Amino acid sequence: MATNQVSSPATARDILSGLRAIMASPSNAQAKLNKVVETIGEAVSSEVCSIYLLREGVLELFATLGLNQEAVHVTKLAFGEGLTGYIAKNAETLNLDEAASHPDFQYRPETGEEKFHSFAGVPIIRNRQAVGVLCAQHIDPRKYSNEEIEAFETAAMVLAELIANAGLIDEHSLDEPIVRDDSANRLNGLQLVKGKARGHAVFHQPRVKIEHTVAEDVEAERHRVYSAFDKMREQIDQMASLAEFGAGGEHEEVLQTYKMFAYDEGWSRRINESIDSGLTAEAAIERVQQHTRMRMRQIDDPLLAERMHDLEDLANRLLRIVSGQMGTAASMGIKKDTILIARNLGPAELLEYDRRRLKGVVLEEGSLTAHVTIIARAMGIPMLGQVKNIRQIVRDDDLLLLNVDEKAVFVRPTAPTQQAFDTQFELSAKKRAVYAELRDKEPYTKDGQRITININAGLRDDVSLLNLTGADGVGLFRTEFQFLVAATMPTRDAQQRFYRDVLEHAGDKPIIFRTVDIGGDKPLPYFKASEVKEENPAMGWRATRVGLERDGLMKVQARALVEAAAGKKLNVMFPLIAEPWEFDEAKAIFDKQIEYQKSKGKQLPIAVRFGAMLEVPALAECLDMLAGRLDFISIGTNDLTQFLFAADRSNPKLAERFDWLSPAILRFLKRVSEKADELGIEFSVCGEMGGRPLDALALLSLGIEKLSITPASVGSIKAMVRSTDLGEAKKFMEKSLLNPNRDIRGELSKWAEIQKIDLE
Ligand code: PEP
Ligand code: MG
Repeated sequence: MATNQVSSPATARDILSGLRAIMASPSNAQAKLNKVVETIGEAVSSEVCSIYLLREGVLELFATLGLNQEAVHVTKLAFGEGLTGYIAKNAETLNLDEAASHPDFQYRPETGEEKFHSFAGVPIIRNRQAVGVLCAQHIDPRKYSNEEIEAFETAAMVLAELIANAGLIDEHSLDEPIVRDDSANRLNGLQLVKGKARGHAVFHQPRVKIEHTVAEDVEAERHRVYSAFDKMREQIDQMASLAEFGAGGEHEEVLQTYKMFAYDEGWSRRINESIDSGLTAEAAIERVQQHTRMRMRQIDDPLLAERMHDLEDLANRLLRIVSGQMGTAASMGIKKDTILIARNLGPAELLEYDRRRLKGVVLEEGSLTAHVTIIARAMGIPMLGQVKNIRQIVRDDDLLLLNVDEKAVFVRPTAPTQQAFDTQFELSAKKRAVYAELRDKEPYTKDGQRITININAGLRDDVSLLNLTGADGVGLFRTEFQFLVAATMPTRDAQQRFYRDVLEHAGDKPIIFRTVDIGGDKPLPYFKASEVKEENPAMGWRATRVGLERDGLMKVQARALVEAAAGKKLNVMFPLIAEPWEFDEAKAIFDKQIEYQKSKGKQLPIAVRFGAMLEVPALAECLDMLAGRLDFISIGTNDLTQFLFAADRSNPKLAERFDWLSPAILRFLKRVSEKADELGIEFSVCGEMGGRPLDALALLSLGIEKLSITPASVGSIKAMVRSTDLGEAKKFMEKSLLNPNRDIRGELSKWAEIQKIDLE
């Protein structure tokens, strides 16, 4: 079949100048659309040019040049039906010299289109959703040139603006699920913080809504894009230089890709070409991105899809810079019940949100023991991780039902799903009420062993949870949270006031203050702990290592704690101790401050106890060397497991690879607790493991009788303790560890069920 090239290719610039005049004219929307099809049809010398718009879930012919005018507002196609429906559904451009040869072709007699052979169509996209289709048809079989297709795509950008401004599509109707079956709206992920929540989607890095597509002054737009590129490249370079502390969660590989794209001349050139055709800077960036998205969708390669995420991030960043909308959703303030959507978050970023309105978080990445997860847990905010493509599927303000208990989030749910969710929500509330009743009941096992249940805390309000949960005390107070929420280094005064406040609110219940654990995935933007770029920040310059080198930091904290605890008991714990001398030096800093206060005649704490966190396996081998000087150890299973398994705790790929209930971990913990017992050193576990009923049951059965857990878990752990016969559990574990099964979790869970242990 001969391909008949018609006239010279129309340029996007010609079409755009025609559209600009139409947009500026005073006529009504329908008249404008009629004029648009005329202009485009003529510009590409096509007999037919039509616009279909999505209304009430179907694509309706709104304007046409060349088809029967009687078909306007009569011809309707379902989303996905015919070539037009195909384009809308797949948000994909079609360019065919013989329309009937496409498997999705459908003939509509009322349009009189039987005589047309060639067909080209592009989706009209608004907020990442196809809201219509612009297409051209021609009698002779011809393929449209690349320039013409690009001109259509550019015109479609402008049409999206015209249509939205004229209110021709009901943008809200897009929220209706297109698929009525909710299985398609259910996205699965990794359970990070249990719970359920209902709210509206808010992007942590808000998407820019493009208001104007047609440029007034092309030179000015070009300039805006140039300087935005400069600024973006500067930001990426800066992030890369800060990468030793993870730069807010963005890791090495991602940064490298960002860098590659940021400096990609092809990308900036395509954006500039779009500006040349008359688009604004924002519209040009989005137009190039739409085109790339379309191309990538046709390539089925998971690696490329990953890279596409990076390019999307960067395009979004560029859009935000160019439009001057740089803040996160937190800085703009969230106005209603919110489910936050992000690729990943840093701990400090999460803390910036209004706690009353933030109901849940959904991440594309995320892992169980990353600090942002721990903070979400401390804030009682359900969090689902590893939800692939959530940022592509969800639109701003979509209704979301988050059910982390079932590892799912429902996007734009149907009414029956909403009802089912509400019922479950009520059931969880009842369960919480049952746990609340346990508040004043002590955690004795069935055979009479009193278990200590402390909570982990770090935020000012956390201490009030002591009474709310009926916990025995705070087993881990993460003092670095105060540093993470502050814009500058907290002064000694501010620290002292904070600790005093915490101690006062705790009353007689003990608090164990952990000295600042910064570095790793908890960088402080205002404090550069390490001068060198770190390849492995989790094993690098963090926690007590920083504290001992920058002893000013530790001295100030020591003084603040000693002052705040005047007349009270003070418990201090040092993180990430690997060797005995580190503990001795850290303790010496406190001893000196106590001496100083004494020499000044100031009131001292009535007792000071010092402990170490056992997070580095090396310390387990040296406990005997600390006997007599070390009052207690607290086993931090989050860090400990990452070092025992050599598995980065914040690497999403490793999030589910290793189980806490593995022989390696359990045997290690057993050995350490027996050793500590023998040496007369008090010990407990304060990692996230202790807050999960089955894992906590395993800890008890190893002989660990003190746990410090996330406050939200106190009820369920108490229920587990009170339904457990500890003697039997110990016997079971002893046997199990002698000849371990690969699936200790499954085995223990079956046993617990027979024993009728309450595991939620
Ligand atoms: C741990 O590592 O287990 C721990 C409790 O400390 P963090 O999670 O704050 O590192
Ligand atoms: Mg730790």
